[in-house]
Amino acid sequence: MSTNSRNPTIAIIGGGFCGNMLAVHLLGNAKKPLNIVLINAGYPLSKGVAYSSYSHKHLLNVKAKNMSAFPDKPDHLLDWIKKHENYRVIDQTALPGMYLPRNIYGFYLKDLFETAIRKKPDHVTISFVHDEAIDIEEKDGKAHIYFSVSPDVIADKVVLAIGNQAPDNPPLKDNSFYSSRNYYGNPWLHEAVNHLDPDKEVLILGNGLTMVDIVLGLKEKKHRGKIYSLSPNGFQILPHREFQPYPDLINELKPPYDLPKVVSLFRAHVKKLRDQGLAGEAAVDSIRPLTQKVWQSWSKQEKERFMYHIRHMWGVARHRLPMDIHKMIQQLILDDKLEIIAGRVQNILENENGIRVTFKRRRDQEIYEIVVGRVINCTGPLPDINKLERPLIKNLISRNLIHADEMKLGIDANADGTILNQERKPSKHLFTIGSTLRGLLWESTAVPELRVQAKSLSEKLLKDMGE
Ligand SMILES: Cc1cc2nc3c(=O)[nH]c(=O)nc-3n(C[C@H](O)[C@H](O)[C@H](O)COP(=O)(O)OP(=O)(O)OC[C@H]3O[C@@H](n4cnc5c(N)ncnc54)[C@H](O)[C@@H]3O)c2cc1C
Repeated sequence: MSTNSRNPTIAIIGGGFCGNMLAVHLLGNAKKPLNIVLINAGYPLSKGVAYSSYSHKHLLNVKAKNMSAFPDKPDHLLDWIKKHENYRVIDQTALPGMYLPRNIYGFYLKDLFETAIRKKPDHVTISFVHDEAIDIEEKDGKAHIYFSVSPDVIADKVVLAIGNQAPDNPPLKDNSFYSSRNYYGNPWLHEAVNHLDPDKEVLILGNGLTMVDIVLGLKEKKHRGKIYSLSPNGFQILPHREFQPYPDLINELKPPYDLPKVVSLFRAHVKKLRDQGLAGEAAVDSIRPLTQKVWQSWSKQEKERFMYHIRHMWGVARHRLPMDIHKMIQQLILDDKLEIIAGRVQNILENENGIRVTFKRRRDQEIYEIVVGRVINCTGPLPDINKLERPLIKNLISRNLIHADEMKLGIDANADGTILNQERKPSKHLFTIGSTLRGLLWESTAVPELRVQAKSLSEKLLKDMGE
């Protein structure tokens, strides 16, 4: 599809959930001529890293009833599943409470995108660049996007929908192991669980939901060797238990939301729930509609204290596993096929006998050693853009077009996605959406937040362009 160069152009860099849904809204709602250019490299278009999963066992961690891609059409996903021939076998009554395979959700997103293209009005065009954007320059009142191979794209507005970045390598005494072919730094690629001797032991750095994806991926490959998961805290992942909505905490939580007050109120409610034999996670879920507001009201110091003292526990309570998967993981632990270790990796050295990993166990502060055949990094996405080795990010920082937010969790921007430069001056051309806004919003990761951002950013962009 060709673009009409006289018409305003919005370029979207990144074609995961955010880029996909932003394009869907623009395609459906632009009343005046508009060119959309969708630039994507890395993960599959529309599905992104999360929903292009290689295994049917990788499930959504949010119930189907809460995963509509549209904030104002809560039943959209449920209706799509019901109408879809391939999914007739799914029990319709159980569907709203189900944790569906993530790759089904990927097909949903792809279908939404293709439908939006089919139904788009003639005055809107969409074109694609399947290449990595490496630089953007503001020139002659426009943004010029550069690639190593593809021709430049010139746009009026550019949205960075670049998603989650692969994890950082934990520091070792000797970092040379990280260039080994038995080290898998990106846990989301299928190759992380492929072509491995099924009897070799495996070390997973990290202990979150991606660790579970890897364990499930290995088990699907009939892996027999023991799997270790090593992380500083070694918290056990919690299951999604069924409970009634718990409004008491949010009813009591009134501004100002200073950290000590929020924490003590939160603790009191968790205790109250537990004393009644109920799940403390109900309190975590109940506070979610206010999380962004509370985070934004905190000073930098309060945010730092939260990050240092509470973030890990918050993460455990917030990111839970569907019950069946949780049971599977518990059984693997009982069968001594999976060991969750609290400790810090010290060094990793490889020779012809295997990979020797030394770590300091948290329990006794003693040094231990294990020998494994593969190490997979599941320590979570690297948020600090100053540490990213991505040409686009490096170039935008050096041009002072973007900089890290004060918490170094993403890109500094206004809540509507307008990017701010180092002097905190709003950009005329650059916007962002998704996990890059974590520093500003804290909760800016999952579909329930991202679908709202995609809709409101599309409305803002169309308004800015005179609609
Ligand atoms: C494994 C995993 C599972 C998850 N499961 C859930 C879930 O069950 N429920 C839920 O609500 N949320 C889940 N999430 C949260 C998830 O982050 C969001 O739901 C959503 O997928 C994020 O989409 P995105 O478009 O922001 O990023 P991504 O899906 O990462 O897409 C970004 C795309 O941009 C591309 N890109 C980046 N830079 C460039 C560049 N310079 N040039 C060209 N292309 C570029 C990337 O390669 C990628 O294809 C999960 C996240 C992960 C990582």
